[in-house]
Amino acid sequence: MKVVYADNNATTMVAPEVVEAMLPYFTQYYGNPSSMHTFGGQVAKKIDIARQQVAELIGADPTEIVFTSCGTESDNAAIWGILRANPHKRHIVTSRVEHPAVYNLCKYLSQNGYQVTELGVDSNGMLNLDELAGAVREDTAIVSIMYANNETGVIFPIEEIGAIVKQKGSILHTDAVQAVGKIPLNLSHSTVDLLTLSGHKLHAAKGVGALFIRKGTTFTPFIIGGHQEKNRRGGTENVPSISGLGKACELAKKYMAEEQTRVKELRDNLENEIVKRAPDVRVNGHKINRLPNTTNLSFEFVEGEAILLLLNEKGICASSGSACTSGSLEPSHVLRAMGVPFTAVHGSVRLSLSRYNTMADVDFIIECLPPIIRRLREISPYGRETKVKEHAMGVSTKS
Ligand code: PLP
Repeated sequence: MKVVYADNNATTMVAPEVVEAMLPYFTQYYGNPSSMHTFGGQVAKKIDIARQQVAELIGADPTEIVFTSCGTESDNAAIWGILRANPHKRHIVTSRVEHPAVYNLCKYLSQNGYQVTELGVDSNGMLNLDELAGAVREDTAIVSIMYANNETGVIFPIEEIGAIVKQKGSILHTDAVQAVGKIPLNLSHSTVDLLTLSGHKLHAAKGVGALFIRKGTTFTPFIIGGHQEKNRRGGTENVPSISGLGKACELAKKYMAEEQTRVKELRDNLENEIVKRAPDVRVNGHKINRLPNTTNLSFEFVEGEAILLLLNEKGICASSGSACTSGSLEPSHVLRAMGVPFTAVHGSVRLSLSRYNTMADVDFIIECLPPIIRRLREISPYGRETKVKEHAMGVSTKS
């Protein structure tokens, strides 16, 4: 069966050029980049090239890039690194819609001697900047606010957020795992102090990430060990994956315009057609301030998991708004924070595209999804209300 992959916010296919960039570093150039010999030294040079490629994508200086094992590690390193460097400051500001890598860490910190202020969002998933200004205090060590939301694609106004944080004398970390490679970023003129990115969200391998730490930021390493990464992250570097991440960043720069146009058109087409063909559907998240590849749809009176299972039978990969990926039955904390009604949270599906998706993929999803919703509503105890609406809209309920 052909797979139609529409779950690119979960992970992406590794680009063939990235695989090619990784391969020599397994069997040919396998030296330790910290070794004194030339064999290891050539590997260290490759890491420097990758550092340059990552820096170029986000408008940073290569010395500001620290390689890590993933986005989660970068988020932990950023927050712990700043807290440990500023032990007299015990307050953190974050939002209610962060990825668990930040959200659960902040929960842990709030149970272990820190004060955490969680900022709410409105029904579009946007922050209230006045609330942010009121929340940052003299003892706020760090403000950690994501760049773009993994579930809805909503983009926060990070520079405006940073201006407020700077005015209040604190430090801004942003989890940009979903933004890097999808929208242009320029940290050379920015209020961001630390930024997280992850390889597997931009067509590099799983298990590699990076943390941008602005020059002059006082930071205590999270992983303490050897002198790698200029004493900012101990541990022998994952050279093949770092080489691949560098290549992926170079490719992301090349394909950025396509992401803004063709991929966005695919997403808009998909979303508009589904909304037209299925009644009682809502699009979650701000319609404009949103990643070009993501749509989050809530279908009333059906279970997101049931939709996913039936999509899976057709070979379509998507995600639901319940945190099923984490093995939990909890409904999405992001949609709940936005005040999405309980019934709609349970019937939510995220479709996320990439430059490898085609119009044929989108057409296939448009062909399959509305009949799946109708079929589920036929057997749903809540479905009758919807059938009345479908009748009024002139939609056939035959699937
Ligand atoms: N932050 C965001 C916004 C994410 O979407 C993810 C992954 O889904 C992460 C952090 C964690 O990244 P990783 O899987 O590389 O640990």
